[in-house]
Amino acid sequence: KKENILVSACLLGINCRYDGGNGLQEDLIGLMEKYNLIPVCPEQLGGLETPREPAEQLNRDDTGNLPGIRVVNRSGKDVTDSFVKGAEETLKLAGLYGCKRAILKERSPSCGHGIIYDGTFSGTKVPGSGVTARLLEENGIKVSGESAIGSF
Ligand code: SF4
Repeated sequence: KKENILVSACLLGINCRYDGGNGLQEDLIGLMEKYNLIPVCPEQLGGLETPREPAEQLNRDDTGNLPGIRVVNRSGKDVTDSFVKGAEETLKLAGLYGCKRAILKERSPSCGHGIIYDGTFSGTKVPGSGVTARLLEENGIKVSGESAIGSF
């Protein structure tokens, strides 16, 4: 039986990205021979529309950690609730499909793992993970980004 791996839907070419586009990774399509890829878009699952304004995480402390979750879009609207809901729905799907690993889009405020943008909408990157990536990891799911597809 093939292993089920959770993946960011935009990496499979689904046009769920904030700008209505996608981030297709051809080599991810190739992994479908070996694994069942379960596509999710946490921001859509959280009820956000597509296209939508880009969002980033705030609330960083001096060490670069994020003690509380707060996400705002470029206009300054707080979209935390949608991001949290999307993360919870994604975790639910991971549980239903028995996923132990996930391949998620790097630097996204939902899907990013290890490095995200700093909340100033200036392209500045800082240590941290997206809301969904963190919730999955807290629940024992190993998260990788698209640059690690080659190691699967
Ligand atoms: Fe892709 Fe994740 Fe953003 Fe959805 S939330 S568009 S899956 S990076």
